[in-house]
Amino acid sequence: MANELGSRERVLSILALLVLGFSVLLFRSGYLQVVKHGHYARLSQQNRLRRLMIPAPRGLVFDCNGVLIAQSRPGFDLVLVTVNDWQASVSKAAVLLGLDSLLLRSSVISQRRIFPKDPVVLVKDLSPEQVARIEENILNLPALRLEVESLRKVEYGSLASHLVGYTSSLGQSEYAKYRDQGYNYGDYIGKGGLELKYENYLKGVNGWDFIEVDARGRDLGTVSEAQRIEPDPGSNISLTIDWRLQSLAESLFTGEMIGAAVAIEPRTGRVLALVSRPNFDPNLFAAGIRADDWNRLVNDSSYPLWDRAIRSAYPPGSTFKVVTAAAALEESLITPEQRMKTSCHGSLVIGNRSFKCWKKGGHGSLDLRGAIVNSCNVYFYQLGMLLKINGMAKWSEKLGLNQATGIDLPQENSGLIPDDLYYQKRLGRNAKTAGHSANMSIGQGEVMATPLQMASLYAALANGGVWCQPHLLLRAEDHAGKVLMGEVISKKRLPLSDGTISVIKQALYGAVNEPGHTGGAARIYGVKVCGKTGTAQTPHGNDHSWFVGFAPQDEPVIAVAVLVENAGHGSEVAAPIAGKIMRKCLEIRGLLPQPDQAKAVMQ
Ligand SMILES: [Zn+2]
Repeated sequence: MANELGSRERVLSILALLVLGFSVLLFRSGYLQVVKHGHYARLSQQNRLRRLMIPAPRGLVFDCNGVLIAQSRPGFDLVLVTVNDWQASVSKAAVLLGLDSLLLRSSVISQRRIFPKDPVVLVKDLSPEQVARIEENILNLPALRLEVESLRKVEYGSLASHLVGYTSSLGQSEYAKYRDQGYNYGDYIGKGGLELKYENYLKGVNGWDFIEVDARGRDLGTVSEAQRIEPDPGSNISLTIDWRLQSLAESLFTGEMIGAAVAIEPRTGRVLALVSRPNFDPNLFAAGIRADDWNRLVNDSSYPLWDRAIRSAYPPGSTFKVVTAAAALEESLITPEQRMKTSCHGSLVIGNRSFKCWKKGGHGSLDLRGAIVNSCNVYFYQLGMLLKINGMAKWSEKLGLNQATGIDLPQENSGLIPDDLYYQKRLGRNAKTAGHSANMSIGQGEVMATPLQMASLYAALANGGVWCQPHLLLRAEDHAGKVLMGEVISKKRLPLSDGTISVIKQALYGAVNEPGHTGGAARIYGVKVCGKTGTAQTPHGNDHSWFVGFAPQDEPVIAVAVLVENAGHGSEVAAPIAGKIMRKCLEIRGLLPQPDQAKAVMQ
């Protein structure tokens, strides 16, 4: 309650700031005038009133605790309002602002060609110094005036940039598309992330002021309050994101690291953190991005605008072994205690090719738990050949792969799970696929999944087989606090027996905590962390480093997937990042045991 109250107060103060932006401007420029009422109808008939848009501030974005992530700020634009003697005014303004007069004038001519009746925006988002310079000289600039618009401002720069998205103003072709939906030319619209997904809530309805002009089109002053149509600010949204966890997760991608992290609360599907690196600063887009900034972003070979957490599918490597294991158990092809026909001696020959285990000396004979703990490829190659491609494809789909999770973000990638048909199309009807089965069993070959899909799958295992749709919206509410849309928690039971889930969870505990483990770097003393590393081969450079896991084993509060591109072993790069994210989540929730309690938990 305290948080809600806090956010509402903040909403009011931000609105007040925007209104203040207008008043100061109108007052300082000498526009405030009170004119008698009967006068207007006559003025209107004589075409002596000009409509001035009062932009509606966009709705605010908060995290789950009321931390403000995105708000609006006033931006001051220099606008040409009359064509009479415009060239002199524009040339003088160019000198005052240190801009190229010729460029400004040609911009006017081209804008007027498109919208002959509308005011022309000369310069957007002036700096405070530029505003002061124009104001001091406003009497010498009769064709110009300053106008206020409402611009997006994200509070933490590039943090969570893909998740939040950015806004940009409607250009000529877009305006034609959106005008019937109540947009004005130059209005701002969400272009990615939640700004796009929840545009309908976030956008407000612009208001209008009416300004009296003389016969030559010059402003004489605003008309009375009674004529004004107040803007209706956009609604606010609160997210499931916990900003403390988000900022910690972002900070763990150091240096030039490229990758993604997704943290989910297994019981609800709430996304607690969603990171994609490299990122970008949405503030660059606020008043229209500069050409050099745009070129830098789109020509960057690391694609900073691309959301790797939900739009990039990667080979999941050994993190996929839980799917192979679950499929084999559910199809009763093995029992948990059963050992494979061939022990691991470091490789397995299939056809005329040798398929390697990561441990050169081999793991010997293992049961299922041992194979997951040690991440033994030779064990899984044999399981893959028992299941065959369609067996693994069927269970991948039952567990939610090969399909979008339906998270409330645009442009989610569905990943890829190949089946027999896929290989028949590629390799012909009679192609031998045992090698492909072996590759698929360890999440290599054509198998692809997004970090979000892997986090969501492990969250379901953590939650006893109940999959909860990952989502980001806690609620949307108008500025009076009325809830327009509440949280939607959507659940589905995966077709896995309790026995299968229990075997897999215990093996994932072992993979982090037992001798032979690969995920020890994600360990948290005193907490039963479960998880699996992956070191996925890729034709594009070094292996990708994965860790997917959850904590604690019983009543888990977080599932997390971490992917670092071309960073090598999952055990060395992704696992420690995932461990720190889980640790922070437990710390926030007061679930990190004291040292004396910790010992008892781990026994
Ligand atoms: Zn092995």
